[in-house]
Parts: sequence; structure tokens; C-alpha cells
Amino acid sequence: MSAPSSAWALELDNVAKGFGTKAAVAGLNLRLEAGQFYALLGANGAGKTTTLRMIAGLLQPDAGSIRVFGHDLAAKPMAAKQQLAFLPDEPMLYGKLRCTEYLEFVAGLWGVDGRTAERKGEDLLRWLDLWDARANYCENLSRGMQQKLTLAGALIHEPKLLILDEPLTGLDAAAARKVKDVLAGLVRDGLTVLFTTHILEVAERMASRIGLIRAGQLIAEGTLDELRQQYGNVHDTLEDLFLSATGPDTDTGAA
Ligand code: ATP
Repeated sequence: MSAPSSAWALELDNVAKGFGTKAAVAGLNLRLEAGQFYALLGANGAGKTTTLRMIAGLLQPDAGSIRVFGHDLAAKPMAAKQQLAFLPDEPMLYGKLRCTEYLEFVAGLWGVDGRTAERKGEDLLRWLDLWDARANYCENLSRGMQQKLTLAGALIHEPKLLILDEPLTGLDAAAARKVKDVLAGLVRDGLTVLFTTHILEVAERMASRIGLIRAGQLIAEGTLDELRQQYGNVHDTLEDLFLSATGPDTDTGAA
């Protein structure tokens, strides 16, 4: 299936999603250029996970449109989803499968042929320091190893857009470094990444572009320097900017 030509890896136009009477995402507009490493930041309850789940096709927007490399997610869900991979904040694995079997299984779901899946799976397992654990059952892996294996599964069909919800949660320093290095390498090779994090230093160091979301809307966006010009001064850290831009936004979770 040929991709419609689009300068954008991801386009969200006026996307909205409510739960009961509460608007979780309220007319969100977002554009990612191919090859961008984009951090979506916001306070608890700002609407980040809801946004990512809609992009991944796990939640249907109430309004608005989402396009992935030009493919409209509602009109052409298969074409759009083939371009992307989503990594939720909790690893989702099949406990009774061994690591290699899990990767074979996921590759099969994407229609990746056996030989390619085996070669790609080995590369990913080695890359993520999981090769020695390849015969272990998923349920016996540590949480950090499970997270890395989920990332390997997300990459097995070579997506062009990777969506990660809090990718570093629960990882020790070595595993976090490994994941950050792998992501940086993939972006250098042309992958587009959209991720959320509450670890602002990670966004500050890794992201080429940062979006701030509040009450389900994008309230500021740019490089760190552009955000400094908009919200603070040259000496401000991302934490200073984040706090001044997002303000108190305590989520009660109440509908
Ligand atoms: P956090 O940083 O705490 O993970 P977030 O920015 O990812 O927050 P969301 O999880 O998208 O925020 O939640 C946005 C709002 O939507 C919150 O008020 C939340 O309580 C509400 N919400 C999210 N999912 C549901 C759901 N399945 N049912 C009802 N309300 C929900």
C-alpha cells in the first residue's frame, strides 16, 4: 500500500475525547515532522495518555482527525497503524512465552516473514542486552527487562513512528541509559518518536521539540530555547518553564 505524500509524520487536528462529562482532551492540535524526537509534557491528568492511546488507535476520538504519515487513522486504520508502534507505560507481554517466542509472535501479527523476524529479533535482543535472557519466560523477567522486551516487540515491524508512554518508568540507571541510547540511535536513523515523561531532564536532554499540554490542549511548543523565550529567560531549566507554563493543575480524577 503506497503512502500518501505528507510532510508530517503525525497530524492531530482538533482532537477531543471526553469521559462522562469530563473533557480529557479538548481540541488538541499537534504536528510532528518526520525524524523529530518530541516530548509531550504535562501535569497529572493533563490528557497525555489519552492522547497517545487515541494515536495508537486504542481509543476512538469523539471529534477531530489523526493522520499518520498522511494516512487517516479513522478512514484507513490498517495503513495508519502499520506505520506506528505504541509502548504503554505498563509492559504488556505473554508470561508463558519465551522472549524469542514473544518476538516471533508479535512479528507474525505484523506479517513480518519468519527469517526477517528471526534476524531482527536477534538484533533487538542483543541491542537491548536481552540476548542472554532470550530463552527465559516473559513472566520470569524483571520489570525493566519486560519493558525492554516490550520495546523490542514494538520495533520488530520497523515502524516509522514510535509512541512511548513514560518509557523510563521502573528502569534502573543502566536500563534507562540503554533505552535512551537505543532511542537516540533510532532517531538518528530517521525514526520519529513521540513520548511522555515526568522526568524533565530526560525531555531536556533528549527531545528536539517539546510540547506542553494542559487540560487537554497544547498550550506551548517549541525547542527548549523557544520555550525559554516564550515563558522565561535563558537560564531557566525545563522545570522552571514547565511550572510557569502549566501552573497549578491538580487533577482530582473526578468526572
Ligand atoms: P498522568 O501524568 O497522571 O499519567 P495524563 O496526562 O496521562 O496523566 P490522562 O490519563 O490522559 O492524563 O487523563 C486525562 C483525564 O482523563 C484525567 O482527568 C483522567 O482522570 C481522565 N481519564 C482518563 N482515562 C479515563 C477513563 N478510562 N475513564 C474515565 N476518566 C478517564
